[in-house]
Amino acid sequence: MKPQTVSETRFLSNFIDGQWVKGDGDATESLNPADGSVVARFTAATSEQLSTMIDVSVKAQNAWDNVGIIQRGLILRQAAQIMSERAEELAELMTAEQGKVLGDSRAEVGATIETLYYHAGCARSANGSTYPSSVPDELIRTIRRPLGTVGVVTPWNFPLQIAAWKIAPALLWGNTVVWKPSSETPAIAVEFVKILAQAGVIPGAINLLLGSGRLGGTMVADPRVAGVTFTGSVRVGHIIRDAVIPRGAKLQMELGGHNPTIVLPDADMELAADSIVAASMGSTGQKCTATRRIITVGEAYDALAPQIAKRVEALSVGQGDADDSQIGPVISRKARVEIDDAIALAVSEGAQVLAKAGIPDEDGAYATPTLLTGSRDLTICREEVFGPVTTILKVDSLQDAVELANDTEYGLTASLFTSDERSVRYFLTHVEAGLVKVNAPSTGSEVHGPFGGLKNSTYPGPREQNGDSSADFFTQTKTAYIRLAPEKDSR
Ligand code: NAP
Ligand code: MG
Repeated sequence: MKPQTVSETRFLSNFIDGQWVKGDGDATESLNPADGSVVARFTAATSEQLSTMIDVSVKAQNAWDNVGIIQRGLILRQAAQIMSERAEELAELMTAEQGKVLGDSRAEVGATIETLYYHAGCARSANGSTYPSSVPDELIRTIRRPLGTVGVVTPWNFPLQIAAWKIAPALLWGNTVVWKPSSETPAIAVEFVKILAQAGVIPGAINLLLGSGRLGGTMVADPRVAGVTFTGSVRVGHIIRDAVIPRGAKLQMELGGHNPTIVLPDADMELAADSIVAASMGSTGQKCTATRRIITVGEAYDALAPQIAKRVEALSVGQGDADDSQIGPVISRKARVEIDDAIALAVSEGAQVLAKAGIPDEDGAYATPTLLTGSRDLTICREEVFGPVTTILKVDSLQDAVELANDTEYGLTASLFTSDERSVRYFLTHVEAGLVKVNAPSTGSEVHGPFGGLKNSTYPGPREQNGDSSADFFTQTKTAYIRLAPEKDSR
């Protein structure tokens, strides 16, 4: 079969019980943010179709459980292999639908393949603990059981990787899934589901719900959905929390960030500048872990600000599929307007623009990469602006820097540049963030390490994704006390 090219408009359907089913709801389009062209069209599912989807998902759970964890791991491995064979085509689709530069799309497809292989491998790891008993011959052990049907709600910024962080371990541990991807990236979601089904995930175990955020809200509130894993904004996260927690279901949330990077005067300024520009402007600043505030201590400001400014001015912004583009468009024209407005508000509040990159003349969703400086009280220093803009601030001491770093509702990532071990220890102890980096960008993580924020960047559930945390979220444990029956002939 000839792979579909990105220039053909796709007509997308929901995936219900192993079948592609056209939604009976409103018509929607997924646009290419570089030029506004239509990448895909779909009609949303109705709440009746959603209800059927949850029903089949609940019914399939027992059969999926009975497949066994080793076989489910092999299915995930097969999905990784199919995705590897289709990697370039998927990267091109991601760039067309989401806008990120092709190199970033390739990296994301690669990271998704690794995520699938990682969870495939986890199938063979220890799946419980044993304890000694006061009773000779008694065995005490924990048993992991799936939650049941899990609702997965994902954002558009990493449309495959974040989805895989959730769907792969959910399926591995025997849950069935109803997945509601972002309305901005439905086409790439459809391809992921095709791959999972082709790899052998049974009908009903993976279901795809195309529709509005509101329909996602109906899904997470449904009492048949035993667990919900969400990545997105704080606003939506809190709506979901209020629907899921009172009904006693399990919840995992990764929300926004306002990530600080502290730079001390003894830091390697070239390394700091390279890392900060990558972490604030890379992926067009549309990473939850992006550096939003650069907090310099003492004379670090004068050494660092020109280095960052020079790099920002040199960024080349353009279509994601052009060879020389380092920074693609943002997700939509609406997002561009919001970013432009946030920068204008900062300037009206007294911020100074230290550097800007040029953007193409075309009418795409291009936001201007911008380095600001000003006071910590700027709105942009408190509210997450999801684009290529960052603010450099100045304080007198490491203690002041950490105090400023913590002066936010968020707590996702934080980074420090220094060569002083005492400062490193102070930072690691006192900074309020779930991922803390030293001499490294605030962005980036490994699938085998736990990933999660603190404060309003999360829900204090079992809060982390990835690594060993996956099994803890996607299963419930029982503690079994197993004694031997008396031997027949000793009675
Ligand atoms: P969003 O607006 O919160 O949407 C996320 C997902 O939730 C989408 O699938 C959306 O569907 C759905 N949704 C919207 N309203 C809903 C409701 N009432 N009930 C259930 N689901 C609902 O976030 P986004 O704009 O896609 O992504 C950007 C945000 O995500 C940023 O704040 C960023 O920091 C955060 N993020 C966090 C992480 C992390 O790991 N901490 C990673 C990436 C992104 P529709 O698209 O159909 O509206
Ligand atoms: Mg789009």
